[in-house]
Amino acid sequence: MAGFKTHLAGGIASGTGLSLIGYSVAGLSLMQTGAIFVVGSVAGLLPDLDSDTGKPLTFLFQLVSILVPSLLFTRVTQRFGNAPEFLICYFTLSYLFINYMICGVIKKVTVHRGILHSLPFALLCGGIGYLLFKSSGKDMALLAGSAVLAGCVIHLLLDEINSFELKLGFIPFPKRSRGTALKLVSGSIPATVFVYLLLGLVVAAIFVPGPFSRFA
Ligand SMILES: [Zn+2]
Repeated sequence: MAGFKTHLAGGIASGTGLSLIGYSVAGLSLMQTGAIFVVGSVAGLLPDLDSDTGKPLTFLFQLVSILVPSLLFTRVTQRFGNAPEFLICYFTLSYLFINYMICGVIKKVTVHRGILHSLPFALLCGGIGYLLFKSSGKDMALLAGSAVLAGCVIHLLLDEINSFELKLGFIPFPKRSRGTALKLVSGSIPATVFVYLLLGLVVAAIFVPGPFSRFA
C-alpha cells in the first residue's frame, strides 16, 4: 500500500485543485478556499482509518475529533447557546467521545483494506462532506463534497497503483493486494450492506425533500 506521506501528498494535490476551482470559478472567499483545501487534504487519508497502527492514524483520529465538532458547532450553538461552560463541555466531551469511543469502535470493527477502501465509502464521505457544508451555500457544499470524494478516490487509486511491482526492473507485476482498494463490495457482506444503507440515507438527505432533509 502507498504510505502516509504519499496519501497526504495526494490529498493536498486534490485539495489544492478543488480549492483553486472554488476560488477562481465559484468565487469562494479565501476562508472558504482554505476550508476546501483542508477537507480535501484530510480526505486523502480517510480510507486508512481502517489501519490499526501507527502515528499517522493517531494524527488522523485527533484531527477528525477536532474537525467534526467544529463543523457541527453552528447547529449545536443554535440549540444550546454559546456560554463558556457549554463550550468547554461540548469540545472536551466531543473530543473524548470521537477520539476514544468512535475511533476505538472503528479500529475494532474494520479490517484493513475492507469496506473503507471502496468506492461506496468514498461516495459516502463525499455526501457527508456536502451535507456538512450545506448551510454555507450550494457552491461551497458541492465543492467540499467533491474535494472529499476526490481525496478518497485518489487514495484508492494510489493504493491500486502501489499494488504493482516491477519485475526485472520494467515488467509490472500485480501484488496480492491488487483490487483490494478500488472496489464496490468488501469480503464482509454486513459491512458492505451497512455502508450502502448509510449511502442511501445520505443520498436521500441530499436529494429527497421532506423527512430526510431535516438530517441535512
Ligand atoms: Zn489505503
